[in-house]
Amino acid sequence: MLRTPIAGILFDKDGTLLDFDESWAPVNRKLALLAAGGDQPLADRMLLACGMDPVTGHVEADSLFASGNTRDISQGLIAAGSAIPMNVLMPLLDDLFADSAALSVPVTDLAALFKRLHGAGYKLGIASSDNQKAIWHIVERFGLTAYVDYVAGYDSGHGVKPEAGMVLGFCKATGLVPSQVAVVGDNNHDMHMGKAAGAGLRIAVLSGTGSRRTLEATSDHCLNDITELERLLA
Ligand SMILES: [Mg+2]
Repeated sequence: MLRTPIAGILFDKDGTLLDFDESWAPVNRKLALLAAGGDQPLADRMLLACGMDPVTGHVEADSLFASGNTRDISQGLIAAGSAIPMNVLMPLLDDLFADSAALSVPVTDLAALFKRLHGAGYKLGIASSDNQKAIWHIVERFGLTAYVDYVAGYDSGHGVKPEAGMVLGFCKATGLVPSQVAVVGDNNHDMHMGKAAGAGLRIAVLSGTGSRRTLEATSDHCLNDITELERLLA
């Protein structure tokens, strides 16, 4: 079988480029307390309902906190007892997420990795369930602007994961076809998005909320983290 060489890499952000627990545990605690109107026992129940253990900070694979966008998480918080209406809660969370970009912790030296991949000729994109403002903050903060060809958030008009739209948008922006694209992510919705779009390669990373057990069935390769990516593609 003839395989198209990979010419573009579409990265998920949280748990893939950024260390999930270190970056998100404090943010999740903050947003639950906000959604609970300062009621800590209610906030703890909301954390549990959205997938985070309030004691250990561990986030369950494929839970709302692991893979939901702002709309999904707002709905989860309201279902768990938040009195704040959707139209108020969503912009509050989006602002909180955008501000939190300043506190996030990368998995590796992202500028060095992106520079090498860009230098090797790969088109590079980021597709996240976060909002696009928050993603651009990360791109700027870690010095990736010169290397990133495409950014898609849940609010960029390409649809949401696990739909194919974010991959197809990347293809449109770069002139590639899906079979030339590797999708890299830490959740099943990243792998399902890759499959829905007909991506050439689905690469799971274990630096986020997933495990080999939750990801091996939907991915072509399972890496510890993105530092193993260059060896795989070579
Ligand atoms: Mg992720």
